[in-house]
Amino acid sequence: MARILVIEDNAANLELMTYLLTTFGHTVANATEGAAGIASARRERPDLVVCDVQLPHIDGYDIARCLKRDPDLARIPLLAVTAFAMVGDRDQAMAAGFDGYIAKPIDPERFVGQVESLLRNRQHGQVAGS
Ligand code: MN
Repeated sequence: MARILVIEDNAANLELMTYLLTTFGHTVANATEGAAGIASARRERPDLVVCDVQLPHIDGYDIARCLKRDPDLARIPLLAVTAFAMVGDRDQAMAAGFDGYIAKPIDPERFVGQVESLLRNRQHGQVAGS
């Protein structure tokens, strides 16, 4: 079980991701735009952030750069969710600081698989670093 922040402006996608994560026993907080998402990350220190790339005002890439620049938050794994599954998207997401990437429409099994994989890696990282 983990505490997960989902930053997503599309209500249907937010509902789907929240449903999937809570079904797997995780606690979910959400924000529908970047400034609120960054504030929530700073306040709550979630175990994982799932972030839509196409957001109003501050896009997901800028959110990723902002979180990874903050020493208190840099270790939190970030999963990018993007509507445009185009060649180069994945590279752009990784360059911005995302640790994983999934394209919309969200495939439930792949989404949950990505989340669990990032959480596992994070735990291993902590053990290795202690
Ligand atoms: Mn969006």
